[in-house]
Amino acid sequence: MALKDEKSAGVLVKEKSINKDQSVSTVKNYINGKWVLSIGTETVDVINPANKKIIGRCPLGNSQDVDNAVKAAKEAFKTWREVPTIDRVQILFRLKSLLEKNLEDLAKLCTEENGKILIESRGDVRRGIQMIETACGMPTLIMGKSFEDVASGIDCHAVRRPLGVFGAITPFNFPPMVPFWFWPFAVACGNTFILKPSERVPLTQSRVFELVEEAGMPKGVLNLVNGSKEVVNTLCKHPDIKGISFVGSTPVAKHVYETACSHGKRVQALGGAKNFMVVLPDAVMEQAAKTVFESCTGCAGQRCLAGSVILGVGDASHIIEKEIVKLANQAKVGNGLDPSSNIGPLISEDARKRVKGLIQSAIDEGAKVLVDGREGIENLDGYFLKPTVISEVKQNMKIAKEEIFGPVICLGKVESFDEAIKWLNSSEYGNTASLFTTNGAAARKFSYEVEPSMIGINIGVPAPMAFFSFGGSKASFFGDIKAHGQASIDFYTDTKVTIQRWVKNSSIW
Ligand code: NAD
Repeated sequence: MALKDEKSAGVLVKEKSINKDQSVSTVKNYINGKWVLSIGTETVDVINPANKKIIGRCPLGNSQDVDNAVKAAKEAFKTWREVPTIDRVQILFRLKSLLEKNLEDLAKLCTEENGKILIESRGDVRRGIQMIETACGMPTLIMGKSFEDVASGIDCHAVRRPLGVFGAITPFNFPPMVPFWFWPFAVACGNTFILKPSERVPLTQSRVFELVEEAGMPKGVLNLVNGSKEVVNTLCKHPDIKGISFVGSTPVAKHVYETACSHGKRVQALGGAKNFMVVLPDAVMEQAAKTVFESCTGCAGQRCLAGSVILGVGDASHIIEKEIVKLANQAKVGNGLDPSSNIGPLISEDARKRVKGLIQSAIDEGAKVLVDGREGIENLDGYFLKPTVISEVKQNMKIAKEEIFGPVICLGKVESFDEAIKWLNSSEYGNTASLFTTNGAAARKFSYEVEPSMIGINIGVPAPMAFFSFGGSKASFFGDIKAHGQASIDFYTDTKVTIQRWVKNSSIW
């Protein structure tokens, strides 16, 4: 409970906890160009998962907070949409250089609140900056089309126009990056925006918004509302919001998609995943094993693009198993700020319990644990789990079907390439799939026949770059228009077509 408010320069209000001998800060909202306390009075603790220390508090905002942000954004839209695109992106150019300057601090903050190791946090910030760089190209990206003499003496042209206020709701696993998947594109197109980050990792975005302010974003154009369900549901139903971008687990993605669609909004909702990696006998095994291992255990397995089930075809299964066991035994879990750590903690005790439960379910269903990451973590302070390798995984096992979101590698054996493709296509999810091979024809067959939308050939984390579209299929994506690149211009604009005929008035010339 707060004892005192210390006036701070911007984002955070220092408080003293009654029962805790430490100072923590409560994150503020950023609405209409001002840092304001949330109207919602409840808070949740922000916990460093590497040592369980409380490092901040996140307010659980309410519908009034959202309404205030929407009013500000709606008002700001009237003038922002008239600012030339070339001028709008100057703010993004300034923000890019501020982000570069502050990259190390942002990465450290990300590691503290999320747990991932520093090198991963740096990548997280860097990929966010790439979104800004891509959105800086908006003067070219937003151009329309024209067609002279579409019929005799008639011309036609189409322009892309912003729609109004958009919102985004983001998950805990990429605190700096995921919000940049959306708002830079929306705002560069001339829309105004409200971001709701995950209540588990609100600190990095608070710092980012300080930089947004420093970059000179006009008031009301970009707003930050912290919270959880109430904020999400209000955003999805608010009559003055035109569209919602969401990233998170599949059940919430589906809920957001259904709620916001039924309230007349455009929605793109990116959900959970279960990613398969197929290894053919002709792959370069040592490199494939390293890539597979890094995919499954990077960010402690808490990535929507993380590999989960590895299908070794024929002899490949034994070779890859041996290599992966070796790598799992060498990996060091630890605090992400310690440069000797390879893998950080999971986000919470609940998350760790769930992953441990899934490992147990695999054993109960007949799989074999080759490396048990539940062992040897007793003396570690945080929510750590060592890499776990499970073999003899079968298609009908729970661990082969559910998203794990932990550093667990499931090894399945198949007799043929076709069997591997059939198995991976039977998954309810469709985010990514990878193939390891030196055979071009096999690579083509794989890209052609598998159902997930993002494919890696000898790549473990097939994340398309900012200039390509991003998003899965099946239960990994709800909506029509994906994120990033040109797709985001489609999502954040309407196309207005004018067809015209100018008739000569012969009395003038
Ligand atoms: P989550 O679904 O718990 O939370 C995501 C957001 O939804 C948060 O902002 C949270 O406040 C809100 N939320 C949570 N429960 C809600 C509810 N009942 N009603 C309304 N809002 C609610 O997801 P998470 O645990 O933060 O993130 C991990 C998940 O995100 C994984 O499933 C992962 O695969 C997925 N993810 C997907 C992608 C992708 O590109 N497809 C990218 C990153 C993460």
